[in-house]
Amino acid sequence: MNMCSFVGRLTIGSMLGMMALAASGSPGADHVFIISIDGGKPAVIAQSDMPVLKQLVEEGACTWTASTIYPSVTLPSHTSMLTGVGPDKHHVLWNSWKPRKGVVGVPTIFAEAKRAGFSTAMFVGKEKFRHLVQPGTVDEFEFGPAGLKKPSTVISRIVAEGAARYILEHKPNLCFIHFTDPDNAGHKYGWGSPQQIKAFSEVDAALAEIVKAIEAAGIRQESVVIITADHGGHGKTHGGKTPADMQIPWVAWGKSVKRGLTITEPVMTCDTAATALWLLGVPVPKGFDGKPVTSAFTGQRDQSVPVAGGTADGTGLDQ
Ligand SMILES: [Zn+2]
Repeated sequence: MNMCSFVGRLTIGSMLGMMALAASGSPGADHVFIISIDGGKPAVIAQSDMPVLKQLVEEGACTWTASTIYPSVTLPSHTSMLTGVGPDKHHVLWNSWKPRKGVVGVPTIFAEAKRAGFSTAMFVGKEKFRHLVQPGTVDEFEFGPAGLKKPSTVISRIVAEGAARYILEHKPNLCFIHFTDPDNAGHKYGWGSPQQIKAFSEVDAALAEIVKAIEAAGIRQESVVIITADHGGHGKTHGGKTPADMQIPWVAWGKSVKRGLTITEPVMTCDTAATALWLLGVPVPKGFDGKPVTSAFTGQRDQSVPVAGGTADGTGLDQ
């Protein structure tokens, strides 16, 4: 490819991103996919038939002892995952779709990415995610089960089909995908129940569709996939402070991810937001509670990375 056609293919976002990348020590990725398994308790995942996830873990970097925020419930937790700040800052403490409450008051990573010129998309299994869609920040928002008549349908499959179609055609830079079935099964039958274990295997099939779409779109070499969860669970519920509810998986796979690494640095759900922005070359905003999980990526030694107007941990720019 000659240089002119190469430059012609760059978006403003990717050019700005390249400048920021040079400053941040980020390995850089043109595409970041955040996949959240709702109610994805590590101990139940370990018992489930999830060959695709297990392969991504083998080929990538992983910790099964990452933490979500308290309260360990879906909307507050996903808000932290996708804004990089805790509930004390984002104030999303409710957990259902309440149109009168409007959208979250702090910028989401979609807002930050969009401002830097990147394309964004969300594919979700629960309507309450609309609270995270600030005007003009998400190019494509699909609530998979909208209009669904059969409640027994595997929602993860519907969400994955929509996401895969969109990925193939539009190759979004920042893409969030939410698989809800294990949470639904957990509330109905219990965490670790045979029905929930089946739901995890259905999530694995949905995950396969996403990986296939990334490969078919020709963007695998430039993509990082982060797979995580919003909370665990116990009995038929969650929301508490115990490890059963608070521990979540955090898996990174793709460009520059260390192969077969067990991540030993503590990982919090806010770190997902910081890692996504860092990979895209978007400065991590001041006041973020999250920090990029730099140890998961080649060429990275520690967590010290520049943020807008300062550093993430005040220790300087030593990469
Ligand atoms: Zn949830």
